[in-house]
Amino acid sequence: MAEREFALVLHDIAPTTWEDYRAFVEEIDSMGQIPMTWLVVPDFHHRSNTFEDTALLDLLHQRRARGDELALHGFYHCDDAPAPRTPRDYFMRRLYTYEGEFYPLGYDEAFQRLERGAALFRAQGWPLEGFVAPAWLLGEGARHALKTQAFIYTSDPGHLYLLPDYTPIKAPSLVWSARSRWRRGMSWVVNERARRRHRHAPLIRLGLHPVDMRHGLSRRYWLETIRRLLAEGYRPTTKISWLQRHYQRHGQAAAIPSDF
Ligand SMILES: [Zn+2]
Repeated sequence: MAEREFALVLHDIAPTTWEDYRAFVEEIDSMGQIPMTWLVVPDFHHRSNTFEDTALLDLLHQRRARGDELALHGFYHCDDAPAPRTPRDYFMRRLYTYEGEFYPLGYDEAFQRLERGAALFRAQGWPLEGFVAPAWLLGEGARHALKTQAFIYTSDPGHLYLLPDYTPIKAPSLVWSARSRWRRGMSWVVNERARRRHRHAPLIRLGLHPVDMRHGLSRRYWLETIRRLLAEGYRPTTKISWLQRHYQRHGQAAAIPSDF
C-alpha cells in the first residue's frame, strides 16, 4: 500500500485555550516524534492576545524549532459582525456556528485582518504558509482578500487548497462535535466510519479542538486514534511538510485533484 500519513492539527491556539491542551500535548510528545500543526489565533474573542503572552510565544517558537507548523487561524475567531439578515446567513452564522469570523466580512475588513495577522507572524520570523479560517468558513470577500496574501494554502474539512488559485487537493478530516453529550456520542461513530472510508487517502487530518480535551470520550478517541494510525504504519506529518513533499514528488501535476 502507498505511504499514508496523518496530520495532527490543534485548532484555536491562544493563551486561554492552552491549559486545555497542555497535558494532551505532553502525552503525544511521550509517544515519540509526532509533529503537529498549531492553528494560532492572534486575539481569541478579543480577550486572549497570543502575541502579548511571552510564555506562549516562547512555547510556539520551541515547537517550530522541533518541526511543528504554525498556521494563522483567523484574527479574533468569533463572528461579531452585524446580525444575519438572510435565512442562509442565519443558518451559517447562528445555527451552524458562531465562530465563522471570516464568513461575513467584506473584502476590506478581511484584508485588514489578514494583513495584521500576517504582520504578527512576520514579526516573530514565522513563515506564512497556512491560513485556516475559523470554522473553515471563508466568505466571498475573504476569499478574494486571501488571494492577495503570501500564504501557500488554506483548507476546509475535505480539502487543502493551494493559494492563490484555490486548487483543491483532497485531504479528509476527522473532527468531533463536542458541544453536547449526544453529539459527542455520535462523533465516535461518525469519525470511525470516516477513518475507514478514507483508509486509502494519502493524508488524513485530525482536527482537534480545545473542548475535545475537556471530555473523556473525545480525548480518549484522539489518543486511541493516534496510537492506531501509528500502529497501522501511518507516518505523522504537518500539513505544510506534506504539501511540500507532495509538490516535490509530482510537480505541478500534484495540484490536480486525485481520486482515491
Ligand atoms: Zn477554530
